[in-house]
Order: sequence, then structure tokens, then C-alpha cells
Amino acid sequence: DSPRLKKPDWIRVKAPVGKGYQDTHKIMREHKLVTVCEEAGCPNAGECWNQGHATMMIMGEVCTRACSFCNIATGKPAEGLDAFEPGRVADAVQKLGLNHVVVTSVDRDDIEDGGAAHFAQTIRAIRHRSPETTIEILTPDFLHCDPCVLEVVVEARPDVFNHNLETVPGLYPAVRPGARYFHSLRLLQRVKEMDPMMFTKSGIMVGLGETRQQVHQVMDDMRAAGIDFLTIGQYLQPTPKHHPVDRYVHPDEFAAYEKAAYGKGFLMVSATPLTRSSYHAGDDFARLRDA
Ligand code: SF4
Ligand code: SF4
Repeated sequence: DSPRLKKPDWIRVKAPVGKGYQDTHKIMREHKLVTVCEEAGCPNAGECWNQGHATMMIMGEVCTRACSFCNIATGKPAEGLDAFEPGRVADAVQKLGLNHVVVTSVDRDDIEDGGAAHFAQTIRAIRHRSPETTIEILTPDFLHCDPCVLEVVVEARPDVFNHNLETVPGLYPAVRPGARYFHSLRLLQRVKEMDPMMFTKSGIMVGLGETRQQVHQVMDDMRAAGIDFLTIGQYLQPTPKHHPVDRYVHPDEFAAYEKAAYGKGFLMVSATPLTRSSYHAGDDFARLRDA
């Protein structure tokens, strides 16, 4: 058993308090919605929720995969999909008055289309109720589905299609055992081919045991697949049973990744210790749209 590394100062976060946080919490509960912010114990929950920005998780709380970095329950989901969920998400988005919403899900390998149609319905329901809200989806990899299911999601026209590569290919067996690196990369490339105007986005965590050179290789692979936005954040171990933290990457190294990524042609990059896939996603999008 290796001793757990002590967290450096730059990783400490404020406790989630404030009116915005309470209001968001209340609305989510009333709509029986689950947030990734809570489930993943995201360190930015206080800040994001006080700004009325949250990431909603659809398709249940039990995931059919078991990634070693993730704190979401693994198993066989007891239920199918809730046909009323897209409406509840749309209602919550409207009540929260979000400018930008991130919708994500667990993996549902037990469902034939992986939840593609459910994602599409959720996008359409939000669009109908809140036409001004920009919609970002963070999807599963649809690895075991017919490749056509991706079209169903793309045709619903989210503003940003996000799918995280999570780590470098060499760490997939240890970190993301149910997934395939090149399948995930190709998924994003296909989105771009289907709709070149749609923004594509992906992200990785660092501190899992990767080298700098491997991080640069992933960035090159992403650009070759036409990916527009990139996030890089520090991996934090949710419990001692999860993949250990290999190292705490210094903020200077993050800054160097960010600079390199812009040099490689990404349109938007967030690379800081507390960057998460959905951190400040709305501000970034607005900045780009208004540019
Ligand atoms: Fe939620 Fe994303 Fe903000 Fe974390 S970064 S609190 S997951 S919206
Ligand atoms: Fe967690 Fe997503 Fe992996 Fe499921 S697929 S275990 S929700 S990271």
C-alpha cells in the first residue's frame, strides 16, 4: 500500500455554501435530478452552483462500466430509461435560467442504443423550453451500439459535443478498462464529419501516471480528429479504493500544456489543477460565440 500523497496548496477548495448553491440543490431535488457535481464530488461545486451552472446526469445513477477513477456506482441498472426525464431536465434548466447547460450520463451498455435517443429527446426538450440556452452534451462512447446511433444524437444539434478520452492510451487497461481509446477518438471525428459546424470537445485528467510526452501525443491525436476544445485537470482520488494519484501536477506544467494546446490549434483550452470537463464551459462558449 503506497501512502497517499499530501494535497498541495493549489488544490484546496472552498466549501460549497451560498444562496445559489442552495437554490440549485433544491431545484435538482424537486425535479428528481442527479448532478455530476455531487456524485463525482467535484471540487468546483460551490463556485459553479453559485453561478447557476450545473452538470446534470441522465439515465440513472448506476453505470454499467467501472472506470477506476470514477465514484459512480457500478452494476446492472435496475430500471430502463425514464421517459419523463427529458421533460424534467428541460424544466429544471428553465427554472435555473441557465445560459449553458451540460448534460451527461452514466454508460448504459444494457440498452440497445446506449441511450442515444434519450439524449436526443433531452436536447430537443431543453431547446424547446429554453431556445437561448446553449447545450453541451458529454456522452458515453456507444461502444457496443450500431454506429448509426451517433447520428440520432448529432441530428438533435447540441451546440457542443463532448466525450472525454480521460487518459492516455497506455493507461486505458488500468483506468478505463471497458473503453477503447481509438474508438472514443473516432467517435468525435465522426461527429465532426457529420456536422462540421458542431463544436467537439474532449478532456483528460493528469496525475494518473502518464508522461508529458504522452499528453502531447493525445493532444495531437485529438487535433487529427478535428477536436475543437480541450480540458486538462488534476485527477483526485475519490476514495482510497480508486486509482492512486501518481503526482500532483504543478500549475506551471498546466500552463505549459495550455500554451502548447493553443499552438496545436485548439480553439479553446482549459488546463488548470481544478479544471473539470464542464468547468466554466458556459463562459468559454459565450466568449467564443461573441468573438
Ligand atoms: Fe459541476 Fe462541472 Fe462545475 Fe464540477 S465543474 S461543479 S461537475 S458544473
Ligand atoms: Fe464513471 Fe463514466 Fe466510467 Fe461510468 S463510464 S464508471 S460514469 S467515468
